[in-house]
Amino acid sequence: MNTEEIEAKENETIANPATPANFIEIMINEDIKTGKYDKRVHTRFPPEPNGYLHIGHAKSICLNFGLALKYGGKCNLRFDDTNPTKEDVEYVDSIQEDVKWLGFDWEDRKFYASDYFEKIYELTVELIKKGKAYVCDLTAEEIRQYRGTLTEAGKESPYRNRSVEENLDLFERMRTGEFPEGSRVLRAKIDMASPNLNMRDPVIYRIVHGKHHRTGDAWCIYPMYDYAHPISDSIEGITHSICTLEFEDHRPLYDWTLATLGIYQSQQIEFARLNLTNTIMSKRYLRRLVEEGYVSGWDDPRMPTISGLRRRGFTPESIRDFCDRIGVAKSNSLVDVALLEHCIREDLNTKAPRVMGVLKPLKVIIDNYPQDKVEELEAENNPENPEMGSRTMPFSREIYIEQDDFMEDPPKKYFRLSPGKEVRLKHAYIIKCEQVIKDEQSGEIVEVHCSYDPDTKSGSGNANRKVKGVLHWVSAAQAVKAEVRLYDYLLTDNQEQEEEAVKDFVETLNPDSLEVLSNCLIEPSIKTAKMGDRFQFMRNGYFCLDRDSTLQLPVFNRIVSLKDSWAKIGKK
Ligand code: ATP
Ligand code: MG
Repeated sequence: MNTEEIEAKENETIANPATPANFIEIMINEDIKTGKYDKRVHTRFPPEPNGYLHIGHAKSICLNFGLALKYGGKCNLRFDDTNPTKEDVEYVDSIQEDVKWLGFDWEDRKFYASDYFEKIYELTVELIKKGKAYVCDLTAEEIRQYRGTLTEAGKESPYRNRSVEENLDLFERMRTGEFPEGSRVLRAKIDMASPNLNMRDPVIYRIVHGKHHRTGDAWCIYPMYDYAHPISDSIEGITHSICTLEFEDHRPLYDWTLATLGIYQSQQIEFARLNLTNTIMSKRYLRRLVEEGYVSGWDDPRMPTISGLRRRGFTPESIRDFCDRIGVAKSNSLVDVALLEHCIREDLNTKAPRVMGVLKPLKVIIDNYPQDKVEELEAENNPENPEMGSRTMPFSREIYIEQDDFMEDPPKKYFRLSPGKEVRLKHAYIIKCEQVIKDEQSGEIVEVHCSYDPDTKSGSGNANRKVKGVLHWVSAAQAVKAEVRLYDYLLTDNQEQEEEAVKDFVETLNPDSLEVLSNCLIEPSIKTAKMGDRFQFMRNGYFCLDRDSTLQLPVFNRIVSLKDSWAKIGKK
């Protein structure tokens, strides 16, 4: 299909949601109709184990595994491990954990490109015999110079016309380790005048004397990605090999490789990669953040990695929902990170129990409340989900409210606590501010004295008296001290994630991306929380219990605040 036909079908899809959801499904439907792949759909997710997966990979995972589910097909997990110096088992393990956590299953189809090294070698010997590959002794720099430019044809290598016998001999000796790294490469013999630079005799094998995380020292020649990838797809019988847009110009080489070798013809399809505002995604840069200590690790809750998002408190459902909503297109765009935040809020709204947590405490003493009395007040766990039931919260003479919820000299329309004014304490009583006590030297407010109206208990018959402000609070004696970590975006701006633009991305790091509050007070019901549990701290956002917690000091990550900038954009 050409672009216009695809566009016409896409418009049809928008008009009728029962038809395919994106251009890839349109192509698959066409292939099923024509019987191109015996009506099979077999995709793969092919990460290189050189870093942790990020939210962009999640888009690819949801797409590849999602298509297999939708069409009753299969999706393989394949590690693209052709670059031994950058890869590691730590990454292999984390990738599997992340794919599983997102909710997908490769069943018994976990593969490694390195499983195919012998097979790829054999096929390559055939390629040489066909006169379609040669050993080249030019240096990397010379190869670059000979390649030419977009407007100028390349120059043929002086080694291009070596005999098949010589090439076979040299290639074998490359394999046995006779030559130093960088001294020789194997190149495909295609066309030095091709308008597509990728077709100007690309390098398909290089010498690397390094230990591979799986094959150890067995190999010192490694196939290049552009060559190993189509062969791996073909070996696995992949029907639709989905990759990101920057590989569009590589597709002729993909097709050439399979056609020239005469093996199963998988089909490469490109889609637009995910870019997010205020977010860097390339593994190279994420690794730099980790290695240079700008973050605490790959799973720092500010990182856009799957492990970072998981630790921050995102749910797999929210990430899958996000990937659904952004859709799959053929042109690059920048998605507002507010949409991702919107998805987690939507998911947690009905799932997360409400609790009260005061982040910056201000002491309030209720002078007319009995000294030693503690009342257990009933509080619903989630107004959006009555099935979640209720709990009790202790109420007593000394409580804490949020510093921001008190102003001595408030502007008009300030409905929180101020001298002489009333507010309701959520699930409790209406209180009135009677007196402000300040530190004599600093002038800082140290405590606020109030009176309460015993007739205004929430849930009692007399609870109807209305006041405008409703505050969260905790009882001083029973509250649990906690550390809370508030996060802001890692990057202050939205530079395009092109190679050039991100060169100095460290300069665009947000110095205030982490704020640690270590004197927070949370209601005592939190004591039974387990690592990874998520809550809405009323009025403060959604929070998740972090693994840094100790018995003495629980630590909460703020997943997201309650202010939904996406919902606002959506309404406009
Ligand atoms: P990065 O540039 O972030 O290091 P990569 O493409 O080199 O990513 P791979 O491990 O090779 O990382 O990627 C595995 C799969 O995930 C590939 O099919 C790739 O196209 C896809 N992928 C990577 N980044 C994105 C993204 N931002 N959006 C969508 N898909 C992506
Ligand atoms: Mg890659």
